[in-house]
Amino acid sequence: MTYRVTIDPRENCIACCNCHTNCPEVFELNPDDGLAQIRAEHRPDGASPGEGAVPDSLEECVRLAEDLCPVTIVHVEKQG
Ligand code: SF4
Repeated sequence: MTYRVTIDPRENCIACCNCHTNCPEVFELNPDDGLAQIRAEHRPDGASPGEGAVPDSLEECVRLAEDLCPVTIVHVEKQG
C-alpha cells in the first residue's frame, strides 16, 4: 500500500514549518520559493514539488503533517 501526498494549493503555504518539523522524512522547505515541498526521493518522476507518494511506514508521519497544517493544504490519500 502506498499513500499519495499532496501540498495543494502549494502557493497557499505560509511556511509555518509544521510539516517538515514533524515529518522531515517527507517534507522540506524549497530554498528558492520558501514554500513547503515533498522531498525529491518521494516524488514520482516528473511530479511537481507538491506531489508525492510514500510507503506504509511513513503513513503516521504524513498524517501528522496533514493534521498540523494550519491552512489545510496537506492531503493524504490511500492508493490502490
Ligand atoms: S504545514 Fe502547511 S503551511 Fe506549514 S509549511 Fe507545511 S504546507 Fe506550509
